[in-house]
Amino acid sequence: MRTDTFWSWTICIFVFIVLSNYSNTVHAVINSKNVSRYTCYNCDGNCDKPSTCDNAIVCYSYSVIDAYGFASFQRGCLDKKDLQYFMCKAKEYIPEKPNTGQYSGVCCNGDYCNNGSFPVLTPHTSSPESDAASDSVVKILQFIIAPILVLFLILAAVVFILRHFHKRRMASLVSHNDLENIYQDEFKGVVTDDSNLKDIFDYSVTSGSGSGLPLLIQRTLARQITLVQCIGKGRYGEVWKGIWQSESVAVKIFFSRDEASWARETEIYSTMMLRHDNILGYMGSDVTSVNSCTQLWLITNYIENGSLYDYLNDRPLTAQEMMTIVISAASGIVHLHTEMFGTDGKPAIAHRDIKSKNILVKDNRTCVIADFGLAVTHTQTTGSTDVGENYRVGTKRYMAPEVLEEKINPSVFESYRRADMYAFGLVLWEVCLRCLTGGIAEEYRPPFHDCVPSDPSFEDMRKVVCVDQQRPVIPNRWSSDMTLTSMAKLMKECWNHNPSARLTSLRVKKTLAKIAAADPKIHLDF
Ligand code: ADP
Ligand code: MG
Repeated sequence: MRTDTFWSWTICIFVFIVLSNYSNTVHAVINSKNVSRYTCYNCDGNCDKPSTCDNAIVCYSYSVIDAYGFASFQRGCLDKKDLQYFMCKAKEYIPEKPNTGQYSGVCCNGDYCNNGSFPVLTPHTSSPESDAASDSVVKILQFIIAPILVLFLILAAVVFILRHFHKRRMASLVSHNDLENIYQDEFKGVVTDDSNLKDIFDYSVTSGSGSGLPLLIQRTLARQITLVQCIGKGRYGEVWKGIWQSESVAVKIFFSRDEASWARETEIYSTMMLRHDNILGYMGSDVTSVNSCTQLWLITNYIENGSLYDYLNDRPLTAQEMMTIVISAASGIVHLHTEMFGTDGKPAIAHRDIKSKNILVKDNRTCVIADFGLAVTHTQTTGSTDVGENYRVGTKRYMAPEVLEEKINPSVFESYRRADMYAFGLVLWEVCLRCLTGGIAEEYRPPFHDCVPSDPSFEDMRKVVCVDQQRPVIPNRWSSDMTLTSMAKLMKECWNHNPSARLTSLRVKKTLAKIAAADPKIHLDF
């Protein structure tokens, strides 16, 4: 396009000169008598060695700068009077638009009078380069900075809206601050300098707040906890050891996307009378906002030995230890599964994620059941089954065949209890693997370690458990031990393919007590 501009200028001037020469010839005849004629220098571009032309009414000298800033000069004869106006009166042309040519001409009368210097052109205020530069600046503004600005504004709006919703959500999750102040006073009444967690628990049991403390006391307590060490990582968050007034507590911090799990666990703990020696002791829940991130806390007793899974990995067990673990765990499940009536009553609860990682081992080797994020409740009087609003599913490795085949009827509470018993059968197997007989025990292995990969898919488990109907292998060693033989029989009755043929938790607990009583090595003292 710019070359075009250059050539159009050149062609214009050329046409102009040709026209003027032509009219010169035509008009020479007419005007020859009245007008003086001159001989002028003639050149176009290279004017160092000009030629001459005749019959001019004026001689001219021209300077031209094309659109690229390239300068050229011309001298010549103008032999037509009417062109004199354009050539000699329009002294200088300085275009308004950048990137267009400029020219300026002077005319004179007399032979060889156009020998002087060429007219000086005032350069356009902006060079083509700077014009191009300013052009690019405009383009950068138009195409880069403007969209970035718009994007930034949109982002700012999104952040603002999210913050707004976050605040509203926080407000709906927690009670009002003024209420908190009232409860702070109540809390001060409960917590004196020499009170310990036991005093607070005692208060919580008499305060009529389910199995936890009044809500805002929970929150005040939560804010006095110092987190010291991460002790567990589940699929739904992290569990930390915390210190409250020099006593240890466990704080389960949920990912904010797992709010449903936190809400469900909080609901189960705080609305059901769950207090039991074999259910993890609950202290409270709290929701805070740290840098606009929702932090969901669930505070429980700290259990030094951690999960049964870790415990079994670390050491083999005597028959006494093995029996303490399984009977206490079964007692916890019986308490969960049983509906209790009256003022201190509780609905029947199915856990739906029974596994060795969700059973914790206390100092005296009795166990507590933990992790109620998936629990389902049932009340006989109303006949209602409350599944909660949770997308979370149980652990595939421990899923009963009817769960894997998706044949479970979600409205029939009994089916969840039976699925729990299937999983408990697998836990019994894990514990028995580690039970010493004659100084020998198998290495710890998770159930189906020999049939599925470490993180099995739904399909992997379905093939093994439903299609092939495989179950954990009972080691030969067990057959030489009376207790382990009975245990093998018991676990098989728990993991029966047919849910209605499985033993109930109460039946398992009673059978375990019988097995323990029959073994002279075992003396249960809890
Ligand atoms: P998730 O819902 O993520 O599975 P859990 O409640 O099962 O979380 O806890 C994950 C792990 O954290 C457990 O397997 C256990 O090792 C550890 N843990 C949980 N609660 C406690 C506690 N109260 N004391 C000691 N360790 C705990
Ligand atoms: Mg868990």
